[in-house]
Amino acid sequence: MIRSLLRPGVLQLLKPNIAAASYSTAAIPNPITEPEIKHTGIFINNEFYKSESGKQFPTVNPATGEVITMVEEGDKADVDKAVKAARQAFALNSEWRQMDASQRGALINRLADLMERDRVYLASLETLDNGKPYTNSFMADLHLSISNLRYFAGWADKIHGKVIPTDGPFFAYTRHEPIGVCGQIIPWNFPLLMQAWKLGPALATGNTVVMKLAEQTPLTGLHVASLIAEAGFPAGVVNVIPGYGQTAGAAISSHMDVDKVAFTGSTEIGHLIQQAAGASNLKRVTLELGGKSPNIIFKDADMDYAVEQSHFGLFFNQGQCCCAGSRIYVEDAVYDEFVERSVERAKKRSVGNPFDPNIEQGPQVDGVQMGKILELIDSGKKEGAKMLCGGNRYGDTGYFVEPTVFADVEDHMKIAKEEIFGPVQQIFKFSDVNELIERANNTIYGLAASVFTKDIDKANLFAQGLRAGTVWINCYDVLNAQTPFGGYKMSGQGRENSEYALRNYLEVKSVITKLPAKNS
Ligand code: NAD
Ligand code: MG
Repeated sequence: MIRSLLRPGVLQLLKPNIAAASYSTAAIPNPITEPEIKHTGIFINNEFYKSESGKQFPTVNPATGEVITMVEEGDKADVDKAVKAARQAFALNSEWRQMDASQRGALINRLADLMERDRVYLASLETLDNGKPYTNSFMADLHLSISNLRYFAGWADKIHGKVIPTDGPFFAYTRHEPIGVCGQIIPWNFPLLMQAWKLGPALATGNTVVMKLAEQTPLTGLHVASLIAEAGFPAGVVNVIPGYGQTAGAAISSHMDVDKVAFTGSTEIGHLIQQAAGASNLKRVTLELGGKSPNIIFKDADMDYAVEQSHFGLFFNQGQCCCAGSRIYVEDAVYDEFVERSVERAKKRSVGNPFDPNIEQGPQVDGVQMGKILELIDSGKKEGAKMLCGGNRYGDTGYFVEPTVFADVEDHMKIAKEEIFGPVQQIFKFSDVNELIERANNTIYGLAASVFTKDIDKANLFAQGLRAGTVWINCYDVLNAQTPFGGYKMSGQGRENSEYALRNYLEVKSVITKLPAKNS
């Protein structure tokens, strides 16, 4: 039943108005509004432990501001213990290294099966801990996480090197080998999905993992850890640490026995990760960082569709998306109409209890993020952008922010340059197409971009000219396991998803064998 609902395609599933548009909310199983908290420990060698320091930290329900539970606080000593376990699981004669590649794929598939089994529970827990609407958790986050794992499960036994013709009587070939112990540090905006994006390629290629969860949202990642043990992965292959960035996170990025670090989060911390890798053992680094993505609307675009997609491209997930379309450039001839309709749409956006199936927008992840968003809104007003709706905290409980729209934003303003990571839309005007490519690219970031037009020449011009890892044409936020995702410039290094992600988890070894001399 649930499976058949998943056929319409991810774009449909991600639409903020999905509930109304593509399926009946009655068909989504009811959430568990008070999910039992089963795991709060540090997961090492397939067991949950208390922290070495004895410390714990609270995780909060952002819809109410109340503490859900205390969680064990991982730090350097716990990271050391996890790295030892991961190193042991990576030993040449270990069960994991000796396992057939097909069996590795079967284990990843089994993990996906268990997530499917626990889908309602996981989606409910994600909504409780992160604040995102349950309809989104269930249909988007869980669907994408499970399908991502299945995609990489399929790769496990299809990764191989090449035979290379060489001069002389030699036989040369390459082996694509796992890098080793991979540190993975993930953010809070898509806790389950970021966990799946990181685990899939690392495990398909035969690495072992020490993952740090975001301190704001540790609960679903810990449940998945228990499913990893239940699926039958050998002990130590995946270790999961809840804890803070400056302590547990920094212990991973500076560890001398971690071979690679993969990080998703802010560009600011991305710098620190790369510095720590450079100052320690030159571990391999991949980064998926921030963005300030241009979304370009030409006057020939289908206006209803462009307004709705641009609304979705910014407001989805409370605006907490690294690839949010946060610089909307609209051609002068349709600018006023686009602004008016975008404001109308934003005013209709339903905000409130994320467990309510009719709600499109829940709270921001915490008070810090809410405060940062409200400050940036203030700076937009001070710098002279025209705020046409929203602008305030919504209600006085939890961390909700009103859907906000700014028009007449100019390129030099702070809100035009900085990632707001909240429900705040910025609309700019353009008239000169040639100048527009330059304006769109005039940013430190390069994660995503989009163009809405019916003119194929314009679409192609921008597809080539925009310096971004993904360019969407007449769509937004179409993300799937098969297409690469990552940033140009300060939006990151390396790519996630797709065959390209595998490269970031492999070392290439040349093996050259002398052949017997030819018979004369
Ligand atoms: P962050 O970059 O501080 O946190 C991301 C992850 O990195 C978390 O697990 C955190 O604990 C860890 N971390 C923090 N400091 C670390 C350190 N010194 N060493 C190692 N790991 C460390 O992001 P944030 O503070 O949660 O959010 C701040 C801003 O970052 C947001 O407003 C948004 O602009 C951006 N952000 C981007 C993404 C993304 O998907 N690209 C995700 C979350 C946040
Ligand atoms: Mg929380």
